[in-house]
Amino acid sequence: MSPRHFCVFSISLAALLCASHSWAQSPPEQTDEAQTSDSSADTDSSRVEHTSHTAPSERAAAVVQQAREENWSTHQLLVYLELDDADECLDFSDRTRLRERHARWSEAVLLLDLIDPDALDAWFLGRREPPRIVQQEMQLQLECLLEGLVGAVDQQSYNIRLFPNISGQFGGRFRTASELADAVASQPYWRNRAVRALRRSIFRDFGSQGYIWHRKFVFSGNAFNKISERAAHKCGLTPGAVWQPNSNHHRRCWFNSLSKEQREREILSASAGPGLSRHHWGTDVDVLGINPNLFVEGAVLHDDWRWLDDHGLDYGFFQTYRDVEYDGYAHMNEPWHWSYYPIAQALWDFARHHPDRIEALLFEQWDRLQRAWGPAGGPYFDHLRQHWHDYVFNIYVPPIDSRPAPMEVAPRSPLP
Ligand SMILES: [Zn+2]
Repeated sequence: MSPRHFCVFSISLAALLCASHSWAQSPPEQTDEAQTSDSSADTDSSRVEHTSHTAPSERAAAVVQQAREENWSTHQLLVYLELDDADECLDFSDRTRLRERHARWSEAVLLLDLIDPDALDAWFLGRREPPRIVQQEMQLQLECLLEGLVGAVDQQSYNIRLFPNISGQFGGRFRTASELADAVASQPYWRNRAVRALRRSIFRDFGSQGYIWHRKFVFSGNAFNKISERAAHKCGLTPGAVWQPNSNHHRRCWFNSLSKEQREREILSASAGPGLSRHHWGTDVDVLGINPNLFVEGAVLHDDWRWLDDHGLDYGFFQTYRDVEYDGYAHMNEPWHWSYYPIAQALWDFARHHPDRIEALLFEQWDRLQRAWGPAGGPYFDHLRQHWHDYVFNIYVPPIDSRPAPMEVAPRSPLP
């Protein structure tokens, strides 16, 4: 199969994935609508010319058969799909490109499920490192995003600070934000240093997420999250202040006034349950800092956030958790948490179509943790067992169809 044939196949498969998610069980008949519905977004006419007459489901079946016979690894599949093709910043300011990249990753997830479902489960749950090609694309795009942010320090319309504590950076070399901005704007050396200092590790595995959950549940270690209105009201605490495990007042409240399910809800305001963190996927990153007070209007990082909010999606990033009214539970506004749309949403879409399978996996993992932690402090996951889907699916997803392509891109046919 030539790469060009494959492009058409890719888009068609993605269309099928979005349309029904059921072809694996009962392959639908190939229709011209399936070929054209999604590829109408594709302005590359060379792809249309090379439309093959073989049904996508047959071709997908051929890929799956070959992969099984040759015992492909996830890496081999992704190489076959040419998803290792990103070697310079992918520019998604034209949202068509973002949709296409997402479609290609959606197809990869679908095929991986057919070829090696255990590998897909392990990736989703954080039981193994994300595929190397996922990590490479994410690292590349994150670096591009940070270069964009750092490069905007001398823009009049934003008052970008980069670091909440300037004097704590670079051995006290800079005393004010404008000193740092001057150096970064004029010297590539400092620009690179700033990007490197802002870069964060991306992947967090299941074990680490389990550790975080347990630590908060038994109320030990560093201060965490924000005290909810509900808990504050019950205990005479200040809503919005952080939980302090070394405060006796806070400890009494946590253990004597909150039920175990209420403790879960407090943790869930800013932490995902083990198996449910988007950080497991290798597609999500916390940038700049995780103190919400630094991002509010007038605070030091507000304009950094504003720049990310205005431009993040041009690099493929969006803010997953934000103040939106949801039906049910949700994590709190997290202006530091950014998701790489093409890959993260491919996994998320997959989970949305397979909630029963995800639930069975999660319950098995939580049972295992509960046995390891012992019965004394638990149960640890009762609220999550009932409401995990709220926390996963009540997220903000940007409408990537709504923004017109920028003017410098070749004109396309006008809308009807
Ligand atoms: Zn995060």
